[in-house]
Amino acid sequence: MEKKPFVTLEKLQEITETYPTPFHLYDERGIRENARRLKEAFAWNPGFKEYFAVKATPNPFILKILKEYGFGTDCSSMTELMMSDACGFSGHDIMFSSNETPPEEFAFCAKLGGIINLDDITHIECVEKTLGYIPETISCRYNPGGVFQMSNGIMDNPGDAKYGMTPEQITEAFRILKAKGAKRFGIHAFLASNTVTNEYYPMLAKVLFETAVKLKEETGAHIAFINLSGGIGIPYRPDQEPNDIMAIGEGVRQVYEEVLVPAGMGDVALFTELGRYMLGPYGCLVTKAIHEKHIHKEYIGVDACAVNLMRPAMYGAYHHITVMGKEDQPCDHKYDVVGSLCENNDKFAVDRMLPRIDRGDLLVLHDTGAHGFSMGYNYNGKLRSAELLLHEDGSVELIRRAETPKDYFATFDFCHVMDKYL
Ligand SMILES: *Cc1c(COP(=O)(O)O)cnc(C)c1O
Repeated sequence: MEKKPFVTLEKLQEITETYPTPFHLYDERGIRENARRLKEAFAWNPGFKEYFAVKATPNPFILKILKEYGFGTDCSSMTELMMSDACGFSGHDIMFSSNETPPEEFAFCAKLGGIINLDDITHIECVEKTLGYIPETISCRYNPGGVFQMSNGIMDNPGDAKYGMTPEQITEAFRILKAKGAKRFGIHAFLASNTVTNEYYPMLAKVLFETAVKLKEETGAHIAFINLSGGIGIPYRPDQEPNDIMAIGEGVRQVYEEVLVPAGMGDVALFTELGRYMLGPYGCLVTKAIHEKHIHKEYIGVDACAVNLMRPAMYGAYHHITVMGKEDQPCDHKYDVVGSLCENNDKFAVDRMLPRIDRGDLLVLHDTGAHGFSMGYNYNGKLRSAELLLHEDGSVELIRRAETPKDYFATFDFCHVMDKYL
């Protein structure tokens, strides 16, 4: 599928008059349309709820948009819990799917009334000790081990993953939790990441639904919800077919009818914790070409770097690049598009065929709406960029200002020494 930016060159030129590059830009229209589609795909399940994975795009403005669709938040840390609370999420709108969790974070989640999703059987004791009780609604994270493989070759390796409980442990955990007063149980698993296939959720659903039936039979626990977590991917590459969320919802429905309904479990609510699928395509990183260099290879230096988007450096991830205004020109130049870090992996693209790039050209790096800004860091003293929201009416809102040197120096206790720069 051809990858087109959601913003025009003219609009970007207008935006850059106010907000200098680099920045992440989010597309409100795309976010809303996609949120509506997800709800529709799972409308057959009355209890369905998406808990947006805050870590993907931790911005209150984004969370508030998603809240309008009845979504909750999936948190992994204290600050994500705080942000959820501040945005008006409360009680069972909050899912706490953390791991290696500090006890005070369990306590804070419980205070907000959020659902604790236990990553390990030993955390039962930790939660009981910290809270003084076991919450009536509680979830356990499952790890079947082995290899999780789909027919198109995509696979992941739960056996090597640090998350979740083994089949024996989760049965034991349910028994213990029930004896300690838990009444409504959930099961959660995240077995493969960024799956670009309609098969993943239905396959995962089968694993979880069968496990749920078994757990109910073995322990008598009332299973109130099953959490399919994240993992639905997006087509970062132009040659990838996007997932069809309606087909995914229907695939899960069939497994639900086949496994849960005959077991008398037709009242189980389905939850998701999608991050990438909800936001990925609806954000882009806008950067400007500021240098060109001709040595053993051809380089284009841009004003963004890996601190603004870590995925290429960290995973070798592909992010499509559009050179704005040159969409119709031939891709007859082979470039490495690089940032300014003193790190040779600071490359947004390697040997990428692109139109001729001139200094001053605006480049759009696609699909940075999830796990983009949020993975940012400060190496080389680089500052985090701004985040902007493109509203449906074409107006643009600054939803996070860019960091300044003052932010960078704020954690020193001799800040006064820096005063002359601030
Ligand atoms: C990261 C994460 C998600 C979101 O994953 P995506 O790939 O963005 O869909 C959901 N749940 C948990 C527990 C996670 O760690």
